[in-house]
Amino acid sequence: MKKIYLDNTATTPLDERVLNEMIPFFVEKFHNPSSIYLSGSEIRKHVENARKKIADFINALPEEIIFTSGGTEANNLAIKGIAFKKGKGHIITSKIEHLSVLETIKYLEKKGFEITYLDVDKYGIVDPNDVRKAIRNDTILISIIFANNEIGTIQDIKEIAKIAKEKGVPFHTDGVMMVGWEKVDVKELGVDMLSFSPHKFHGPKGIGALYVRKGILIENLIHGGLQEKKRRGGTENVPGIIGFGKICELRKEEMEKDKEKIKKLRDNLENFIKENIPEVLILGHPLKRLYSISSVCFKYIEGESILLNLDFEGICVSSGSACTSGSLEPSHVLLAMGIPHEIAHGNIRFSFGKFNEEDDVERVKEVLPKVINKLRQMSPFWEKK
Ligand code: PMP
Repeated sequence: MKKIYLDNTATTPLDERVLNEMIPFFVEKFHNPSSIYLSGSEIRKHVENARKKIADFINALPEEIIFTSGGTEANNLAIKGIAFKKGKGHIITSKIEHLSVLETIKYLEKKGFEITYLDVDKYGIVDPNDVRKAIRNDTILISIIFANNEIGTIQDIKEIAKIAKEKGVPFHTDGVMMVGWEKVDVKELGVDMLSFSPHKFHGPKGIGALYVRKGILIENLIHGGLQEKKRRGGTENVPGIIGFGKICELRKEEMEKDKEKIKKLRDNLENFIKENIPEVLILGHPLKRLYSISSVCFKYIEGESILLNLDFEGICVSSGSACTSGSLEPSHVLLAMGIPHEIAHGNIRFSFGKFNEEDDVERVKEVLPKVINKLRQMSPFWEKK
């Protein structure tokens, strides 16, 4: 049975061209970039060349890029980095952040920082005016997600950045879902910090980056070495950095072309569901939404059961967020959008990537109605409706 992967929001398959670029850096080019003999300094050149490509991809300066182990560490570094620098104060975030932001901020709340968790509307949109109203004299940071990983809704980051700048408050955005899919230009957006992670756009895992605008001062979280201009100690993940650079270079050239294809696949599946399966709810903003994500609630049944039944047929999807699966609570994102518990429980997220083809969608179209129908026939709620 051919496996169909429609969970590209959890992670993506590595582009083979990226792998080929990385391989020499595991074997013959294994040297430590901090070593001062020739072989070491050659590796340093490759690392710095990759950093340039990554910076260029988001229109940043190379020295504004700090390598991390991924998006989670980049979010931790941005938020704790500002909080530890300031020592105390007020932080603004939203109720639909990824857990790597929410849990970091909850940790700071326990340590005495004051937090405002902004509401979102039924599409998962943060009103920039709410951000403006929430800013206080002691606000030290605003952190709002760019594109949400569960529903794909995209925030008006440029407007929020403008408000933050007017008030002189540093602004961080979790760009993990956005970078690699849509053009991101940090200078045009006016953000102070942005997290991104290449395993979400066909690059390697175990590497990520935080963009920190020149002039923004943050506290270091990992002490020890001189790497990353003393901002993040530890021998660099050289193959990861090389792969990160390569995928940024490729996405810059190919993003627009892939976008059309991926959107077509997503729309094809979404239209099929709307037309052929009754009692469904498509989540996220109809227009301000990533073209690769379709989050659907199938009423009267459990998302987990749909997921397992699709898995038996070789189709990988997720229910809510892969990061929160294992919990029986419906996703905090869906609840923040005002979706009732019983509907939120029936959520499935289909997410597409550059290696999906029409065949994949055709197979889901064949299997999904049967799965939904079977589960609904077994559901006491469907019977009573
Ligand atoms: N932010 C968002 C929006 C994400 O979707 C994820 C990954 N699920 C992360 C942060 C964490 O990134 P990483 O897996 O690279 O640690």
